[in-house]
Formats: sequence, C-alpha cells, structure tokens
Amino acid sequence: MAKDELWHGIPRKDIPWYPTVDADTCIGCTLCYTTCGRGVYEMQDNKAVPVNAMSCMVGCSTCGTVCPVQAITFPARDLIWKLERENKIFKIVRQEAKEKMAKQDALKARAAAEDAVARLTTRVRFEIAGEFGEKRFLVQMEEAVKEQPYDFINLRLEVPTVQGAMQNTPAFMSFEVTSTEQEDIQGFLPNVRDLIRRNGLTLVSENRL
Ligand code: SF4
Ligand code: SF4
Repeated sequence: MAKDELWHGIPRKDIPWYPTVDADTCIGCTLCYTTCGRGVYEMQDNKAVPVNAMSCMVGCSTCGTVCPVQAITFPARDLIWKLERENKIFKIVRQEAKEKMAKQDALKARAAAEDAVARLTTRVRFEIAGEFGEKRFLVQMEEAVKEQPYDFINLRLEVPTVQGAMQNTPAFMSFEVTSTEQEDIQGFLPNVRDLIRRNGLTLVSENRL
C-alpha cells in the first residue's frame, strides 16, 4: 500500500497496525511469507522480516494465526476501535458500502442480461426428408420470411439421382433458421414446422445451435 493511501478516510501511515516478528522465536518456516498476499514479508537469513509493514491490511492478523511458534504479534485491537471512533469513519464506511453494493448490483444485472442473451434461441438447424418434386418448397420458404426478421441460411438439398428426383424419389434437405436482428426465433419455429408438415415432408431433426 502506498504511503499516502487511506484506510476509510484515515491516512494509512497514521495507523500503527502491522506485524512484529520476534526473530529469536521465528523458526523460518515461511508460512507467513507464503500466506500474506500483500508482500509484507521477506525471508532474510531464514527469518521472516516484515519489510513492507505498512502494506499490511488493517485488522488482518492471519500470519499471526498461522505462525506455528507464535512469533508474530500485533497491536491490541482496541487501537483500531479507538481510531474508528475518533475519526468517525462510519459515515465514510456506509458510503463505501453503498458504492460496493451498487457495483455488485450492476455486476449481477450484467450477468443476468448475459444469461438472458445466452438463453435466446437465435439459430436452429433443421433436417428434413421427403419428396420435394413439384412442391415449390423453396418458394414457400421465401414467402415465409418475406418482410419478417428471419431468414433461412446454409440451405443444402441432397438429391440422390436426377432421374430418381423426376420419379419422386425422397431427397434430403438441411437448413438453418436465423434472426436477422439477433432476436429470439422461437415464435417463428412453429411456422417452419407447419411448412414442413403441410408439404408432407418428414422432420428428421431440429437442433438449437
Ligand atoms: S496480517 Fe495479513 S496482511 Fe498483514 S502481514 Fe499478516 S497476512 Fe499480511
Ligand atoms: S510463520 Fe512464524 S515461524 Fe514461520 S517464518 Fe513466519 S514468523 Fe517465522
């Protein structure tokens, strides 16, 4: 923590909260050094030294808790409570809490909006089979999306043989239904199924992409 940083409005440099290591007791196990995420400690000659004492988080005493030989001590907690009272930090803390909650609410709202988008169905792949012969199926597809915010894309018609097609041999078709405005297309899907049914074709599969 930089020297001019504040702790709830109080200059951090005015708060004497930091660990003190009794070098004679320290056995150099490095637990405090590896536990502290704020870079307070360095290991020197197999002893823990709080070289960045003012980076210690006010009120934290985790390294003291994990030290197996109780070599780490902190000032009495009354010191912090006295500072809190004298500096009337509660108003500042309440404001900070409000801002934190607003930030969390914004994050939650964003996550909910992203979830809603993820739940949208904007592309579905259909596979159908049957006799396409004289049915002018493509023309009907065109009419179905005319002046609608939907489209059929990646159309593929597989006809086994031309002669077979002339004799009404079943063919296979796949296509995808999409929204031209990235909107949900679920309301349009019944029209597609109806189109398939009306033409006596078989719906082989329908998959959300
Ligand atoms: S009390 Fe917490 S922040 Fe301070 S030195 Fe120990 S582990 Fe790091
Ligand atoms: S946890 Fe205790 S014994 Fe281990 S290095 Fe830190 S001060 Fe020393």
